[in-house]
Amino acid sequence: MKGLSPLLKSFLYIIGGDVAIEVGIELINSENEDITDEDITENIKERIVQEEREVDFEPDDTDILKLNTVRKTLYKLYSEKLAQFRRIRDKSTGWFIYYWWHEFDMLEEILMEKKKTIENKLRERLEFEENNYFFSCQNCKDTKIKYNFDEAFELNFRCPDCGEPLIADDNKDLIHFLKEKIVSIENANVFKDFNN
Ligand SMILES: [Zn+2]
Repeated sequence: MKGLSPLLKSFLYIIGGDVAIEVGIELINSENEDITDEDITENIKERIVQEEREVDFEPDDTDILKLNTVRKTLYKLYSEKLAQFRRIRDKSTGWFIYYWWHEFDMLEEILMEKKKTIENKLRERLEFEENNYFFSCQNCKDTKIKYNFDEAFELNFRCPDCGEPLIADDNKDLIHFLKEKIVSIENANVFKDFNN
């Protein structure tokens, strides 16, 4: 029986909880033959009974695991690009039979893509905060004059009216936080922690 790498296991869990891990185990152990969603369901149930595990995949049902739950999980994997299927119409019943296989080799690429997306979002937010980063004089608060970074820089961060220092607005901490976050994501190696 083949197992899942810790990284893959964690990712499957995030996608669809314990059921997704069970489905992943079935997919990786049927690499050489496409497997139907019905077979996956039956295999998981069999394993649970054999291993005498106390699991509760269906809290509102007496059935240990429903075909519908497995189907939903498979579609979750499919939408995360970790699984693929083809369907064939059963000539006798007219129903479609779905054959599934995994695309776990894509994991690295998928995670890199996710990392990039998060990083881009943080960068966009940082740019917004920096463009809306204003300085004002506490002494001349009533005039409500605000200077952007370039203006404040030109003024040597001194109020042109009274000479007091210009103080940055509240988003200074947020900008600092965003910058740190971006650096830590850039330096993070998601694979190192799990695979070694
Ligand atoms: Zn002033």
